[in-house]
Amino acid sequence: MTIETIEYGEYGNNKYGYIDAHCHIEDKKFNRDRKEILKISRNKNVEIITSGVGLGGCKRALELKKKYDIHLTLGFHPHGVRAEDKVVDKIYSIIENNKKHIVAVGEIGLDIRDENIPRQRDIFNRFITLAEELNKPIVVHGRGLERMCFDIINNRVISMFHCYSGDEKLAKELIDNGHYISISTLICMSHHHQNLIKNLDLENIVVETDSPYLSPIKGEKNQPLNVIKVIEKIYDIKKEEGYEYPEIVNLIYKNTKKLFRI
Ligand SMILES: [Zn+2]
Repeated sequence: MTIETIEYGEYGNNKYGYIDAHCHIEDKKFNRDRKEILKISRNKNVEIITSGVGLGGCKRALELKKKYDIHLTLGFHPHGVRAEDKVVDKIYSIIENNKKHIVAVGEIGLDIRDENIPRQRDIFNRFITLAEELNKPIVVHGRGLERMCFDIINNRVISMFHCYSGDEKLAKELIDNGHYISISTLICMSHHHQNLIKNLDLENIVVETDSPYLSPIKGEKNQPLNVIKVIEKIYDIKKEEGYEYPEIVNLIYKNTKKLFRI
């Protein structure tokens, strides 16, 4: 199958390169405008790492990966904790059989708002072991249980904590252990995230939109292009330390490339 090339168009080229480290371009919410959204990202030099989750999500994401020039991760979201074992098994084999198409396993993890934490933990652990076998990093969803996630990972693999919302202490421990913190578009609105970036070095920081979720613009669907807004916000906060804008862009770009080995 050939990769569809999206022509550079009215938006022109952008002298900076960005990577949205986590979004869901296969989400059904993009069914009407996916191609346009991908084109806009491409025109602004925003590379995309999409995270397919669940059976349908993984299959759709794999199809898109074949069609477009995007990067892919596949995983099992903790929201799916009620799924039957055979569904978990199926996703497990899809990931196992697509090693060469993925840059990471995820998102996987724990969510304090979902039920049955023991089962969430079992499934999370299983997919970490798979990532270990495949020699891939993982993308972690750890809402409210970030510390527990860190303990379960136990440095077996390198992880990226997607939309990190935990505390500063754990963030520093994660970075010290070689893991990555992903700052989402939430930073445009949230003081917690703004403070977090203020107090962290940019080493092992990456950025994401989690599109179509977490839009920084009220009433609008989020899209990978908005990862530029995350960088701009980080620059706003870090310029006091003497950072220049291109320095931040390049640092975060390199961090992401290193993490996903792309
Ligand atoms: Zn997500």
